[in-house]
Amino acid sequence: MSAIASSSSSAPQPNPGGIITQPPPPSTLRESRIATHSHIKGLGLADDGTAMDFSQGFIGQNLAREALGLHLSLLKLGRHSGRPLLLVGPPGTGKTALALALSQELGSKVPFCAMVGSEVYSGEVKKTEVLGSCFRRAIGLRIKETKEVYEGEVTELTPSEAENPLSGYGKTISHVIVGLKTVKGTKQLRLDPSVYEAIQKERVVIGDVIYIEANTGAVKRVGRSDAYASEYDLEAEEYVPLPKGDVHKRKELVQDVTLNDLDMANAKPQGGQDIMSVMGQLVKGGRTEVTDKLRKEINKVVDKYIEQGVAELVPGVLFIDEVHMLDMECFTYLNRALESPLSPYVVLASNRGICTIRGTEYDGILGSSSEGIRSPHGIPIDLLDRCMIVKTSLYKKEEIKRILEMRCKIENIQITGEALDKLAEQGEKTSLRFVLQLLTPSNILNKTKTGATGGGVSMEDIEELNDLFLDAKRSTGILKDLESLENKY
Ligand code: ATP
Repeated sequence: MSAIASSSSSAPQPNPGGIITQPPPPSTLRESRIATHSHIKGLGLADDGTAMDFSQGFIGQNLAREALGLHLSLLKLGRHSGRPLLLVGPPGTGKTALALALSQELGSKVPFCAMVGSEVYSGEVKKTEVLGSCFRRAIGLRIKETKEVYEGEVTELTPSEAENPLSGYGKTISHVIVGLKTVKGTKQLRLDPSVYEAIQKERVVIGDVIYIEANTGAVKRVGRSDAYASEYDLEAEEYVPLPKGDVHKRKELVQDVTLNDLDMANAKPQGGQDIMSVMGQLVKGGRTEVTDKLRKEINKVVDKYIEQGVAELVPGVLFIDEVHMLDMECFTYLNRALESPLSPYVVLASNRGICTIRGTEYDGILGSSSEGIRSPHGIPIDLLDRCMIVKTSLYKKEEIKRILEMRCKIENIQITGEALDKLAEQGEKTSLRFVLQLLTPSNILNKTKTGATGGGVSMEDIEELNDLFLDAKRSTGILKDLESLENKY
C-alpha cells in the first residue's frame, strides 16, 4: 500500500516577495552531457590533498587533481573572485570530469553548468545573452521559507481496496485516514493546509474512507473501513477525531533554485496571441523572454532576501569547454562578469595550443592583422594572466584499461580480457574518448551476433568495429592520402 502526498499544484508558485520561486523542469540536454561522467564522484584526494590511486571514479591525472584540490581550498576561503581556472590538455584527458568533480566537492546542491564555447553562436540569441544565462544557471540560491504545514497520514488505496463496496464510489476512492501518529506501514506525509481544512470541515475521523479530488483537492467522506483500521492494529477507541484548532506546524522548508530558474519562472511568454505566435511558442518548447530588466528586478529581490536572511547565495561551477571558440566580445563580457559579486566559480578548458583569438581577424582592432591576434589557447593575454592554469596529460595504456573496465561495469557490458587489452592499446594510440565511445556499439554488435547469452564483447567484435568506424587520426590520414592523390593528377 503506498502513501501519497496531498494535492499540490505543479505550477510555479509566487511567494510573499512576489517572485516565483518554483523552477520550470530542467533541461535534459545538459543532464545527458553529464551522464558520460556518472562514475565521477569527486576529486579522489586523501586528507593531506594527495591524489589517491583510484578513488571517487578518478584514475590517474594526479597532478591536475591535486592542483584542483588546492584551488578548492581557495574557493572555500572565498578567494576566487575574478580568478578562473583554466584546464589545458589534449581531448579526452578528463578536463570536463575534473570540473564536475570540483563542483561535487563543493556539495551536492551546488549547481554545475557545462557549456561549449561554440554554443554562443546562434541565429536567435545574442552571444552575451547565452553566456549570461549560463552564468545564472551556475549561481544557486537556497531559499528558506517557514510554512504552515499539517502533518498527518493519508494512505492510498490499492485498486482492489478501492473496489470495496463500502466505498460506494467504485474505483474513484483514493484515501483512508488512518491516523495522526505514525502507523506501521504508512509514511509521514505533509498535507496541504487547504486539504487539511477540507478534511476538518468533513469531520473525518481515523478509519474514515475519503476521496480527494486530484485537481481541486476537494475532500468527500464516503464511508468507514474498520477492517482497514484494524489492519494497522488500531483499537476502536483509538479512532480519535482529527484534533480541532491549531495543529498546523511551522516548518522550515529549504528550496534550492538557480538564478536562471527564477528568470525562467518569472519570464513572460513571448509573442502575441494569434495562432502563429502560439504555434511558434509550442514548437520552440514554450520559449520565454528573459530581459535585462527582469534580471535586474530578480537580482533586487534576491539581494533583499539575502539581507533579510531568507536566502543565501550558493555559487556553483560554470564550465566553459572549448573556450578558444569564444570571441573578443565574449571575452570582454567574461572579464566583466568574473568581477561581479554574483559570479559563479568559472572553469575554462581548451585543447588548443597557440591560435587566433576569434573576432580579431580584421584590421582596425588594436594590433590586429587580417590573420588576427594569436595567443595561447586563443585567449586574450589579460584574461590568460588572471587564470590559474592546470595541465592534463595523455593517459597510459594501463590507466585507459582501468577507466574502460569501470565504464563497462557501470554500463553493464561484459567484455573479454583480450578485447579490453586491445581497446586500451588502441586508446593509447587514438584517444580515451574514442575507445569509450566504442563500448556501447561493441556490446550491441556482440549481442546481435551471439544473443543475450554471448560471452561478452570479443576481440573479433572490436576488429569488426574498427572496419566500421574511424578515429580522428585515421580519418585525417585518409584525407591526406586523397589530397596527395589529387595533387598527383
Ligand atoms: P575535450 O577536450 O574533448 O572536451 P575532456 O578533456 O573534457 O575532452 P572528458 O570529457 O572529461 O575529456 O573525458 C572523456 C571521458 O573519459 C569522460 O567519460 C570522462 O568521465 C572519462 N575520464 C577522463 N579522464 C578520466 C579519469 N582520469 N578517470 C576516470 N574517467 C575519466
